[in-house]
Amino acid sequence: MRQKPDDILLFVNEMNPSRRLPDAANPEMIYVKIPVGMLQCNCSIIGDPRTLEAIVVDPGDEVERILGLIGRYKLKVKAIVCTHAHIDHVGGLAKLYQYTGAPVMMHSDDLPLYRGMEMQAAFLGMPPPELIEIHQLLKEGDVLQWGNFLANVIHTPGHSPGSVALYLPTGGDNATLTQPQIFSGDTLFAGSIGRTDLWGGSYDQIMASIKDKLLQLPDATIVHPGHGVSTTIGHERDTNPFLK
Ligand SMILES: [Zn+2]
Ligand SMILES: [Zn+2]
Repeated sequence: MRQKPDDILLFVNEMNPSRRLPDAANPEMIYVKIPVGMLQCNCSIIGDPRTLEAIVVDPGDEVERILGLIGRYKLKVKAIVCTHAHIDHVGGLAKLYQYTGAPVMMHSDDLPLYRGMEMQAAFLGMPPPELIEIHQLLKEGDVLQWGNFLANVIHTPGHSPGSVALYLPTGGDNATLTQPQIFSGDTLFAGSIGRTDLWGGSYDQIMASIKDKLLQLPDATIVHPGHGVSTTIGHERDTNPFLK
């Protein structure tokens, strides 16, 4: 993976050199990963290079930077999705919504966490971000569609009660993808799993979410966690010490 100190920009096909398309100007998916804020939450912009429609996942902070990248690729934001309501993932919601008008989505089980933003902010010693109305509540089995892409919503409680992952399978509407992709929030990381000692966390639930849902996906699935580097389901199944 190519990493720059500022933003990390990659097209998915560059993650797997053996499958690299000969023409980098025609990527299979526009994927911009932007580690934002004090806790370096990975904000993801996922765009269709043909229609330029995109969704933004976890705009935790640094909305100017996110908007700059949306502008650089001339993307139209169709939805703003939160994998969960921790402050480092939702801090930029209000501002990004003001600029894009795109509906904001999260799972209903994380609404108490979202409304408790003052407590989360005090815990970290930072000012609380502006709260906004959540326009669409997500649940297991929902399908998000933008451009020629679709993502399945998978409810993965454990790190928080309303944690969700977005899964983009190959084939069908996602015909250009050569490998499935999952945006896993803070549930599964490269070599680790999410913490379960915060409000509403549960070790038993996170292990069930990972084993019964995430590890059921194909080994080739690229995992984009809420923090740190990307990995694959197969690699985590084989090497993640928390899944032994
Ligand atoms: Zn986080
Ligand atoms: Zn979190």
